[in-house]
Amino acid sequence: MDVRIGIGYDLHRLVEGRALILGGVMIPDGLGLLGHSDADVVLHALCDALLGAMGQPDIGELFPDRDPAWKDAESRVFVAEALARVRAAGYQVSNVDLVIHAERPRLGPHRDRIRGSVARLLGVAEGRVGVKAKTNEGVDAVGRGEAIACWAGVLLTQP
Ligand SMILES: [Zn+2]
Repeated sequence: MDVRIGIGYDLHRLVEGRALILGGVMIPDGLGLLGHSDADVVLHALCDALLGAMGQPDIGELFPDRDPAWKDAESRVFVAEALARVRAAGYQVSNVDLVIHAERPRLGPHRDRIRGSVARLLGVAEGRVGVKAKTNEGVDAVGRGEAIACWAGVLLTQP
């Protein structure tokens, strides 16, 4: 059986006047992530992991931020496209593991909602999605609360 592994990483700056959306879940915070689309750092990392597993171009190439079509786009659209490419290539998502780096807001209370949302977007059971929320121990831009980053790992298998 052919098995594919993929990793993805993304980071967006936290700014005033934007909604904070992580894994497709709106999180009330006062600050939000800056980006051309909705800047959902979790779904962007996830998309790159899915695309990378198949050796395909990354999210920045597929949905360039100079294209007005993606201005304020919901990142679930990017996930749907990546998932369609996974299926077209003859694979299914076996599992996903996500590490969200955020000093603020504290994500523990939102973790299960994010997990459920990602599972729904991928059409898999929640047991196939892992979500970990980590602070950056006050170090670096993430630790100063200036940005949120996310790592994603995926495993694709053939149905
Ligand atoms: Zn991004």
